Amino acid sequence: MILPVVKYGHPVLRKKGARIEAITPEVKALIADMIETMHDALGVGLAAQQIGQALQLTVLDVREVKDRPSTMTVAGKLVDLAAHMPLVLINPEIKPTGAPDTGPEGCLSFPEIYADITRPSETEVTALDAEGRTIRFHCDGLLSRAVQHEVDHLNGILFIDRMEKATKEELKPELADLQAATKAVLAKKP
Ligand code: ZN
Repeated sequence: MILPVVKYGHPVLRKKGARIEAITPEVKALIADMIETMHDALGVGLAAQQIGQALQLTVLDVREVKDRPSTMTVAGKLVDLAAHMPLVLINPEIKPTGAPDTGPEGCLSFPEIYADITRPSETEVTALDAEGRTIRFHCDGLLSRAVQHEVDHLNGILFIDRMEKATKEELKPELADLQAATKAVLAKKP
């Protein structure tokens, strides 16, 4: 089922996600819906907050982005990235490493808004997968950027918080409009 994506201005985007203690049938159904929603929106990642649930859960899929390659390493060995997509991360812990890298970023909760964001170029990830098994990997490229962006969501942090001051200043009118539109929709709900 495709779920509505929460837009900037909704308070859930600022909530830290609760840890998932058990992979219940409800959690499995939510994961399936989030993957479907991400694919439908042509996104490379989707966090639980973005479908209105403050949980430590995100899904990613960078397979289709051929011009921004990524690598994934498990136990020091390069693995076939496509075989690990879509990627489900539950209760992820990350350690960003490597040199700072600046690249374009967007977010499904901020339609039509893009900006260059600087982040460490590599990420060490430990998480549970959709079956509750522990997974550990190292990644770079777009996957590294996307993992850091999504894990930020799980902690209530948004990409606008990582923007250069001048960029955020430039985008101020668009951000204000988006926030106002979201709040107007929320105010109408009973
Ligand atoms: Zn996002």
